[in-house]
Amino acid sequence: MQESNVDLLIIGAGPSGLMCANALAGRGFNVRVVDKRAVGVVAGQADGIQPRTHEILQSYGLMERLLREGVEIHRNAFYNPGPSGGIERIERTAAISQPTARYPFTMCRHQGGTENFFIDAMRPKGLEVERSTVPTVLELSADSGSSELRDPAAHPVKFQVVLQHLDRTENDREVVHAKFVLGTDGAHSWVRKAMGIKMDGGHTEFVWGVVDFFPDTDFPDIRARTVIHSVHGSILVVPREGDLVRLYVQLSDVDLKLVDKQTNRVDKGQASPEKLIETAAKILQPYYLRAFGDVQWWTVYIIGQRVAEKFSVEDRILIAGDACHTHSPKAGQGMNASMGDTHNLAWKLAYVLRGWADMSLLRTYEAERRKFAQDLIEFDKVWSTLFSGKPRTAQHDDGVTHEATLGAFRKFGGFSSGIGIRYATSIIVDNKHQDCASKLIVGERMIPHVFIHTADAKPVNIHDLLPADTRFKIVVFVADVTTDVGAVPLRGLAERLTAESSFLRRFGHGNHLDVFDILCITSAERDKVDYTDVPEVFRSHWSKVLVDDVDYAGRSGGGGFATYGIDPKSGAIVVVRPDGYVGTVAPLDRVEDIDAYFSGFML
Ligand SMILES: Cc1cc2nc3c(=O)[nH]c(=O)nc-3n(C[C@H](O)[C@H](O)[C@H](O)COP(=O)(O)OP(=O)(O)OC[C@H]3O[C@@H](n4cnc5c(N)ncnc54)[C@H](O)[C@@H]3O)c2cc1C
Repeated sequence: MQESNVDLLIIGAGPSGLMCANALAGRGFNVRVVDKRAVGVVAGQADGIQPRTHEILQSYGLMERLLREGVEIHRNAFYNPGPSGGIERIERTAAISQPTARYPFTMCRHQGGTENFFIDAMRPKGLEVERSTVPTVLELSADSGSSELRDPAAHPVKFQVVLQHLDRTENDREVVHAKFVLGTDGAHSWVRKAMGIKMDGGHTEFVWGVVDFFPDTDFPDIRARTVIHSVHGSILVVPREGDLVRLYVQLSDVDLKLVDKQTNRVDKGQASPEKLIETAAKILQPYYLRAFGDVQWWTVYIIGQRVAEKFSVEDRILIAGDACHTHSPKAGQGMNASMGDTHNLAWKLAYVLRGWADMSLLRTYEAERRKFAQDLIEFDKVWSTLFSGKPRTAQHDDGVTHEATLGAFRKFGGFSSGIGIRYATSIIVDNKHQDCASKLIVGERMIPHVFIHTADAKPVNIHDLLPADTRFKIVVFVADVTTDVGAVPLRGLAERLTAESSFLRRFGHGNHLDVFDILCITSAERDKVDYTDVPEVFRSHWSKVLVDDVDYAGRSGGGGFATYGIDPKSGAIVVVRPDGYVGTVAPLDRVEDIDAYFSGFML
């Protein structure tokens, strides 16, 4: 059999596997991505993309394409049974309730379309998905804790994957010796099962149908994300690309016989898209609903709410995405949670593979993302029950009220948009000096804000200066550098940062700019300061020096120190992780605490 060595073998090229592959493509790693499908997803499956995922896609330069190809959803609408037996609108709200979201709307793009963003971005960097390929053997038989397993540069001898190429008749098998394996092979993950990782949780009794079609209707909220409770059942309307619409239709108790009680799988053969649209039309009364032309995609499924008991084996085999967690799709979390997992993991793998960080850094992946998955299941339990429960009527006084649905929507807005995700304190989340940037919560993603380039006065969102390029960003906020109030502490900080003992020198691996990007933001006035006014270490390029002032048009910029809760006289150092989350903050004269932060996991 043919044999090969790789740094990372990714099994499964869905959103989760592709996010990781693209993050590491072209960065000097030997990565392979295999998938059993002969072709990618062409329609349907996951579609909702949430505000935090927009920001993540932007950090890889992919958001413009989503804006071009996807549909923006700005409004939610809620309907309940009305007095005449049909439905009536109770309320309209903004689709997103998070004021700091850079893109304050959700979007839809079908899963295959989103996967293509990554596939097309990877291709010029020399990475393609190898299709019609499955693993048949996955062996990790080295002793736990052996020095071989603890050395990230080693291809452990007793660690191998046998791949089978389904499209070949000869030489269809090969042995791959991988330093790391990532199983992103979906809800029925082969990798997870091969490693004997159990799923905690179970299945609900809610059976739902999903149908994508072009509607002919007089329903006025067909272009809003609309939750409808009626005496005939519930549906969720999701506007899709162009004039396409997706309906999630709750199937009646009669349809529960479609479920195989042994496997918890639904017999799709007994359902049909026509029946789903017919059920939806009944729920939508007094409005009419028919389909124009052929249905684009449809499916029927039962909701499982489960989380894997662990996300890795010996830090060598990791699983992510649906392989680790499944939940209902109605809050539009599937793709988001899955891409969020591997966005969190990719830079950690990069640091370990480069020998820059200890293997223990990988443990923070499971700690951060398993907690998130557990919270997701708890949220999903509340959300699914509100969705699938009967509405409160005179006959059902214990039914679901509109207030409960709306209350949950507001309560969980931070979580479901992804904006409010906060990682707990760990070796990479240190909130010791939280007070010096009181509104920039350590463990949460950096808040977007517009600052002005000192050199050319161009307004720029700070997120665009924090690309997911695997570097830590050291953002120094300082008082007016044209006066001693700012200039003196900044000079002191420059001396401290360039000293031998500084983290820049100790963990810079010969060229600190490979590991750390440094930005400097001053409270000086736009037209009174030059980028050359700051010491050299803060201006590796003119674009790294910014002011917290308004632009010439007076439309953007200014108020950044206040937004972040940083005293303009004292300033602060903000460490942003490569995935855009605030790792730690410290006063300008506490560089030793930043040194200690990096000493906790860097080599
Ligand atoms: C039929 C179906 C319908 C869905 N409908 C919805 C929906 O309506 N709304 C919603 O939000 N979410 C839906 N989902 C879930 C959504 O697709 C996932 O939450 C999301 O795509 C998770 O991304 P992932 O990369 O973790 O897994 P997936 O997207 O499942 O990707 C896994 C990849 O691994 C590959 N693979 C699987 N086994 C192997 C193997 N042994 N060897 C090699 N490759 C393998 C698969 O071909 C696939 O490309 C649906 C999923 C499925 C399967």
